[in-house]
Amino acid sequence: MNKVYLYIFLFLISISTTFSQENKNIKSNDREEISNINDGPYILIEKNNLIEKTIVNGKVLSKKLTSNYYDTVFTPNKEIYKNIKKIAALSDIHGQYDLAIKLLKKNKIIDKKLNWNFGKGHLVIVGDIFDRGDKVNEMLLLIYKLEKQAKIEGGRVHFLLGNHEYMVLHNDLRYIHKKYLLTSKLLKLNYNELYGNKTVLGRWLRSKPTILKINDYIFVHGGVSKEFITKNNFDIDIINKIMRTSIDRTKTEMKSTDFYKNFYGSKSLIWYRGYFNDNLKDQDISEILDLTNSEHIVVGHCSNKEVVSLYDHKIFGVDSSIKKGKYGEILIIKNNKFYRKTLKGTKKKFK
Ligand code: CA
Repeated sequence: MNKVYLYIFLFLISISTTFSQENKNIKSNDREEISNINDGPYILIEKNNLIEKTIVNGKVLSKKLTSNYYDTVFTPNKEIYKNIKKIAALSDIHGQYDLAIKLLKKNKIIDKKLNWNFGKGHLVIVGDIFDRGDKVNEMLLLIYKLEKQAKIEGGRVHFLLGNHEYMVLHNDLRYIHKKYLLTSKLLKLNYNELYGNKTVLGRWLRSKPTILKINDYIFVHGGVSKEFITKNNFDIDIINKIMRTSIDRTKTEMKSTDFYKNFYGSKSLIWYRGYFNDNLKDQDISEILDLTNSEHIVVGHCSNKEVVSLYDHKIFGVDSSIKKGKYGEILIIKNNKFYRKTLKGTKKKFK
């Protein structure tokens, strides 16, 4: 009998040491990974103060900034533009900051010091800066800066929200890079709270559009489907307001009516893949263009090896797989002519 107890006792001891050893391993791995974390700044709004949090080699540095150091109130920009001479569009950067800046530099949208270099041109980011990669905040801050610089020069930067922006803002964190779990731990805030209503970038994101029109071109992350357009009045201003307001609505509440299916379903502006997957006829595309009062639609969301043109240049797909971190392209529309530009800055015609 005593022997049995002894065996059980020894067995329990062996399990507990294995567990504690595993725990130690996880913790020390964590510690090592944490010491490699460099991230931020994240600007938090606390009452009337701005607190800048930066992580340097795993250590959190906090700094109080003067209240006018960053804007804290953001009014949405205009969403319809006419007579714009040059436009550049790309999408689905997914945290691949280094590749994105290389592409923007080579194509002279920004200069070597990462400042605006596109004059009166309009740069459109067709959604999905968030998720997958590990330099999301860097990319957002660059866009934030370029937006201001462009405006001074008479140009514009438009950042359209894609499905991944809406996912993160609604606390769907399935696709965040694992680095951000540690950032989150260090800053003692859930990842979505780093872009919440009490942060500078969170408020800035909440002022962004989902759909935009420049000249005869519509820009939207997924696309405009026939289903969406027959259910909703096609009013860009109203649609953007609806999408903006939905950021701070809960999923449960949105799902209590057909709102969620309509604005967040597979036929919605941010999730639609029909131009690539549904074998639409030329007639379907023409109807969509008629209903949106446009000649072309530029979308991201569906990844291709390069910027692509479909349906006789009526649809452009600008997700050139930047998310893989290896290659990317940019769509240029200049004096109503369009071409692709490569990572080397070479001009290419569409196939
Ligand atoms: Ca997407």
